[in-house]
Amino acid sequence: MNAARPLLCGIELGGTKCVCLIGTGPDDILAQIVVPTATDPDETLRRIAEVLRSWRETYGAFAAIGLASFGPVDLRVGSRRFGHIASTVKPGWQGIDIVGRLGLVQGVPVGFNTDVNGAALAEGRWGGARNLADYAYITVGTGVGVGLVVGGKSVFGCNHSELGHVRIARRPGDRWPGICRFHGDCVEGLACGPAIEARAGLLAAQIPDDSPVWELAAYALAQLVHTMVLATAPRRILVGGGVVQARPHILGHVRRLLIESLNGYLDLEDLTGGVERYVVPPALGALAGPLGALALAADAYAVSQPARVREI
Ligand code: ADP
Ligand code: ZN
Repeated sequence: MNAARPLLCGIELGGTKCVCLIGTGPDDILAQIVVPTATDPDETLRRIAEVLRSWRETYGAFAAIGLASFGPVDLRVGSRRFGHIASTVKPGWQGIDIVGRLGLVQGVPVGFNTDVNGAALAEGRWGGARNLADYAYITVGTGVGVGLVVGGKSVFGCNHSELGHVRIARRPGDRWPGICRFHGDCVEGLACGPAIEARAGLLAAQIPDDSPVWELAAYALAQLVHTMVLATAPRRILVGGGVVQARPHILGHVRRLLIESLNGYLDLEDLTGGVERYVVPPALGALAGPLGALALAADAYAVSQPARVREI
């Protein structure tokens, strides 16, 4: 095995599908296999384990494995429940030990984090946030998730942060209750794909581009970005996920509503080079999530090596 380009395995566990990758980086992916996320975790984890087994046979031993999971998950090292899915809207997956079931059995270093923290780290390593120590990645899809990097690290306290669920100022006159089953009108409850569909009464793909629902979702996202700008002052904010990928015009609304909301309090032009360069799509596109798992594997491998190798 080449120590400078170790063979890595990444698994992104998503609400609807799990993407498994093997390779050494974004320009060297040897194989990618998608396993549907079943209601029964045993079936899904068995199929992923089978993919890993067949890859070992084909490509040989890998140096580390990265697991990037939907959550919330327990990231507290030393906790009895480290590596477990905590509570989740996904039926059947509550309390499942992802690291124990998928990682430890492989006998190699395991990197584990949330899917959005992984995607943020991948954007920092290979994508649209290279050379930045302070930035954020927001995904707007089945939910709203945020990977916030401060001083080169994903923010972490008593556990990972969950900025998709912050409460925000509502657009004046808008009293729609939102769909988050915990908070109603938190950012996710107002701006995730299913929220937009519920408000429009149409499937996402059928909602016309000029429907007012996009701007209403963008209003919630702009409020989230306003909060983040003032809380940790990221140098760039990447906004992706299935909704923004399909409807990039949402970003235009987010930029305009962010400027309106900040109301001249900060000079974004001076601080960040202007809102067009500040709120941008992720450079890795739909691969940000799966490459996030690979980035976690790369980090796990790096910390497992003697310092001499890490310095190369
Ligand atoms: P996940 O969050 O599960 O990883 P994605 O990021 O792929 O999923 O986003 C899926 C969401 O994208 C769906 O919930 C749907 O609401 C939304 N979506 C799918 N197609 C379109 C479309 N054509 N226009 C707008 N939104 C869409
Ligand atoms: Zn919520």
